Amino acid sequence: MDRRQALTGLTALTALALAGCATIDSQNGLAPAPGPRGSTTPSASPSGAANPTDTPAPPATPAPTPTPTVQPAPHLKKIARPPGALSGLPGKGKLLAWTVDDGVSSDVVAAYAKFAAETGTRITFFPNCMYSSWVNNAKALRPLVESGHVQFGNHTFSHPNLTKLSDAGIVKELQKNAAVLKNTFGVDPAPYYRPPYGYLDKRVQQVASGIGYTAPILWYGSLSDSSVLTTGQIVGFAKKWFLAQHIVIAHANHPAVTKVFPRLLDIIRTRGLTTVTLNDVFIR
Ligand SMILES: [Zn+2]
Repeated sequence: MDRRQALTGLTALTALALAGCATIDSQNGLAPAPGPRGSTTPSASPSGAANPTDTPAPPATPAPTPTPTVQPAPHLKKIARPPGALSGLPGKGKLLAWTVDDGVSSDVVAAYAKFAAETGTRITFFPNCMYSSWVNNAKALRPLVESGHVQFGNHTFSHPNLTKLSDAGIVKELQKNAAVLKNTFGVDPAPYYRPPYGYLDKRVQQVASGIGYTAPILWYGSLSDSSVLTTGQIVGFAKKWFLAQHIVIAHANHPAVTKVFPRLLDIIRTRGLTTVTLNDVFIR
């Protein structure tokens, strides 16, 4: 790693400090926003009522058919994973690793699965399987996992600060989470893991490596949505951080992000970025 890369690494750590799960977000100076704006659900026109007159029923209004452009699978020459923690993707490509953590909300997980299926957007999820949202949405997620649109890494079962746990505690958190993912989706999240809050030290890395977790995945930019943000704030963070070769962290916790999926996709398309999972990029 040269000096410039080292500096980039430092910048990444700064971004990390501004970004991750709740406790860090609370320090980032962002005022907690009021809840997401009330969504306007299109009201269905009344239909099906008996027509007492002889006038013919009006022709059914055709429902607008969304025509999303499904992003094709990228054909990449996989590369060896650099050692140590990663906060970005190596090289000069135009790839974006959109990663989504936690899974507090089953509805948000469902919306992400629908979004990935409809648009071909490739996502790496880092679930905490203490939340039932992953098992609840297994039916929708399974085909995406099988096709490679979606990948799972390990974010621990119950989201502890791993640096505060015993060696055995670290192992238990990773293995308990992996067991749910294996049982539900038939996949092993190793070697990828994301330490909750980005808290990582040498001991955690050694213990995790001992059970096959050799790839701690941090991030270089965040939608900062482990806290409740407005849709406008989320789009603002996407504009700031959806950049080439970045690993960006988001959360399946609050619904605001699901209201702006089309706008996030526009940013990705306008910038000529291709979404990738970690498995798309690295030789496992
Ligand atoms: Zn988290």
